[in-house]
Amino acid sequence: MKVIGLTGGIGSGKSTIAGIFEHLGVPVYNSDKSAQKIYFKPEVKKQVIELIGAEAYLTDSSLNKEFIAAAVFSDHQKLEQLNSIIHPAVAKDFKEWKEKQHASYLVKESALLFETGIYKEMDALVLVSADKDLRIERVKKRDHLTEEQVLQRINKQMPEAEKEKLAQFIVSNNERQLVIPQVLKIHQKIVESLEL
Ligand code: ATP
Repeated sequence: MKVIGLTGGIGSGKSTIAGIFEHLGVPVYNSDKSAQKIYFKPEVKKQVIELIGAEAYLTDSSLNKEFIAAAVFSDHQKLEQLNSIIHPAVAKDFKEWKEKQHASYLVKESALLFETGIYKEMDALVLVSADKDLRIERVKKRDHLTEEQVLQRINKQMPEAEKEKLAQFIVSNNERQLVIPQVLKIHQKIVESLEL
């Protein structure tokens, strides 16, 4: 079964676009949401606590994201160690999910598809693109963050222009072009390529 990677910078509208694929009957795996759940698997939780401390968990079902971010923000080695706990667990979870799906293709949504190198395992890549100012406004509104906090997150991601070079399909989500027709066109092209 082919797997299409769906990515884009913070606030670009990945989840919004993923929802359109779902409406078309395409199963979507959200790597970021799965990663949040995976932190609570007993074997993962044990390793996270050993690495950064019990304060990483607020309750049995909520993460102390600020504490985790602060713990790894200026410690690159710790970030790598945390990634080496979470990423293989997400990969395993994706593999198990994939085996249960029945569809002509699947979509794997991830904010850090390029940054993690996972894009190399995808059969094709869809990039959701939106201007930086618009992304800042969306995330400020959605997550109640300051402009500075959003910029900190944006600056940690790969620049949009680099991503555009690696993607086969681009959805422009600048609120100037309708997105549903763009997704329909991409879906049609993917389905046609599968029939060849
Ligand atoms: P993140 O990487 O932060 O999870 P994302 O790329 O998945 O973000 P979304 O959550 O889909 O982005 O969109 C960010 C915000 O912008 C949401 O509140 C969403 O409702 C809004 N949004 C996305 N696309 C549009 C659009 N075309 N018109 C208006 N609002 C939009």
